[in-house]
Amino acid sequence: MAILHVLADNHPTLRLIAKPIDEITPAIEKLASDMIETLASASGVGLAAPQVGKSLRLIVIGNHLEPKDADPPPFPLYVILNPVVAPIGDDREEDTEGCLSVPGWYGPVTRYCTVRLTGRTIAGKPFNKIFRGFPARVAQHEVDHLNGILFTDYIDDPTLLRYLPREQEDYE
Ligand code: ZN
Repeated sequence: MAILHVLADNHPTLRLIAKPIDEITPAIEKLASDMIETLASASGVGLAAPQVGKSLRLIVIGNHLEPKDADPPPFPLYVILNPVVAPIGDDREEDTEGCLSVPGWYGPVTRYCTVRLTGRTIAGKPFNKIFRGFPARVAQHEVDHLNGILFTDYIDDPTLLRYLPREQEDYE
């Protein structure tokens, strides 16, 4: 496995519509395992293939390495190919969001509270799961990456964005 370079938000690959994955090749399996390692090394909660320079519909979500009493609480690791996220109900909520491609910056984004995430697992099996709250937010954020959307696109007022370098996060 290898830790991959995460592209910054001005990189054009982050603005492409990513391509569906038709076949799970060894290269796709290696990309997925490298993304898992990259996510863990960055202490992130989600990573989309375009963020590591591959314009493919593949996301890795989960913060299972966090302690059980962490805020937000941990949820399991999922690798999903060709993910589709669909809201369940109309409830939406605003919360602070960040992104490994926009390091240090955080801002408020309104997302659906509950979503159904479908797609395929790295083993090629159907994936179909309902997420609520924080994991639902992460799923929406990562699928956005596959459609060329960054969380900052939702923030019309730039004064709502706050810069908080990683080492200062504990003081938030
Ligand atoms: Zn992101």
